[in-house]
Amino acid sequence: MSEIGQQQQKVEANILVLGAENVGKSALTVRFLTRRFIGEYVGTESIYTHNVNVDGRETLFSIWDSVCPQNPNLSNCVTEEQLRWADGFILVYSICDRESFSVVRQQLQRILQMKKRHSSAPVIIVGNKRDLQHRREISSEEGRLLAISSDCGFFETSAAETYHGSLVVFHQLLESIREVRNSNKK
Ligand code: GDP
Ligand code: MG
Repeated sequence: MSEIGQQQQKVEANILVLGAENVGKSALTVRFLTRRFIGEYVGTESIYTHNVNVDGRETLFSIWDSVCPQNPNLSNCVTEEQLRWADGFILVYSICDRESFSVVRQQLQRILQMKKRHSSAPVIIVGNKRDLQHRREISSEEGRLLAISSDCGFFETSAAETYHGSLVVFHQLLESIREVRNSNKK
């Protein structure tokens, strides 16, 4: 295929959004999809598709907004099916919920184990609810350290306050997915 033909090819990215309950996975996803924050979200699992132009290329996002089962055996929170499906992962915790940070740690371990076997899908760790500074339990440094130690991206966001944060997270992950694909082609 000519270079121009390749440039015009549609980009597709399957993104799995993981994390404990109540950290803002749905809020972050819906923000990216609609630019809006509605406050309360149905607690059911959904896969959304979203067609947008990113840097001049038509891009189809499929975003799996997951639900962690109640009383989970945490490592089982991520299924084989999800791991196989995803081109990239967003792991969300709440900066005011330490338990949710440890869920992200465990889910990250599970993804890294799988990556050793057959994938190099990129991961972005997101500390959400940064508007709730007075209730902060996890410092930015702690979040960033976890990300650096496993070669993940890192952002703090407030799905409640801004659209921009969610946009940056999804676009950065898309860029990393494209980098992985390009390096696999070489
Ligand atoms: P999920 O269970 O991880 O999908 O979490 P939801 O998206 O349903 O959000 C859980 C609760 O946290 C809801 O009441 C949201 O309104 C609230 N929430 C989500 N994101 C933020 C945020 O950035 N800041 C604040 N203050 N609340 C948020
Ligand atoms: Mg949800």
